[in-house]
Amino acid sequence: MATPDALLRAYGREYDQIRRQLGLTTIRLWRQLGGPTEQNMERWLSAILPVVGGAERATVTLVSLYLDALSSEWGITASPRVDPDRVLGAGLRAGTPPVEVYQRPIITVRSQLADGRSLAESIRIGGTRAVATADTDVMLAHRATAGDAFEALGFEYFRRVPTGKSCDLCLAASTQRYRTGNLMPIHGHCDCRVVPIYERNDPGQVINRQLLEQRNVREAIDDRSRRRANRPPETVERPGSNIDAGRRLLESLGLSDVTVRQHGELGPMLVDPTHHFTGPDDLAG
Ligand SMILES: [Zn+2]
Repeated sequence: MATPDALLRAYGREYDQIRRQLGLTTIRLWRQLGGPTEQNMERWLSAILPVVGGAERATVTLVSLYLDALSSEWGITASPRVDPDRVLGAGLRAGTPPVEVYQRPIITVRSQLADGRSLAESIRIGGTRAVATADTDVMLAHRATAGDAFEALGFEYFRRVPTGKSCDLCLAASTQRYRTGNLMPIHGHCDCRVVPIYERNDPGQVINRQLLEQRNVREAIDDRSRRRANRPPETVERPGSNIDAGRRLLESLGLSDVTVRQHGELGPMLVDPTHHFTGPDDLAG
């Protein structure tokens, strides 16, 4: 029988692999393109959309299998029936059709050219956006699938599990529980995993505390205090009622200034109130 820990690691590896592979394929397709003509726009869309769609469907399957296996370990017999047609397509970004989303990197190239940048530089900037957009879509598929599966399986709470590479925002947020029915707040390049909490079984808490201990917390606090000192205070929405002991611990360390804001297309996003919120470009839209 696989332990929750082993299942979490195995799914995390696959999730990373899907994203890495998609990034490589996206940049390869992008480099074959040339200038931002209408014809190239059509070529780009017909090449990239099936690739991203495939990665998203693989993610739906992966997260469903992971949560099915994990819940079976805990004796839950329900299965995470996640409908890819509901989760993916325009549903992924609050109704924005993928065709529109993937026109954006080409539009970026055009506007860079209009700003006087060279074709090579404009294409490079558009490529960065294309890769970030594809990566964000897999992240959104991951989050939406987990959300539907948690509800189908009857879990009340879940936790995010950052990796050793995760940023301080994720690390700070990882000490709180989320109520199922709320989507996990994300940010650009977020590689957080998810784990449901079942009765007294909360694998995420142990893993997250280990991670926190590994990190040089002092360094993060110093960095944040420096940034905070340079900015006026902002009124921000706090993540709400899901505060637990771990979160209070972080607050006592001065690492609690992570907040959630609603983004029209990408849903709840993790933001550091000491950073400006600049919209989809900033968030790899
Ligand atoms: Zn994260």
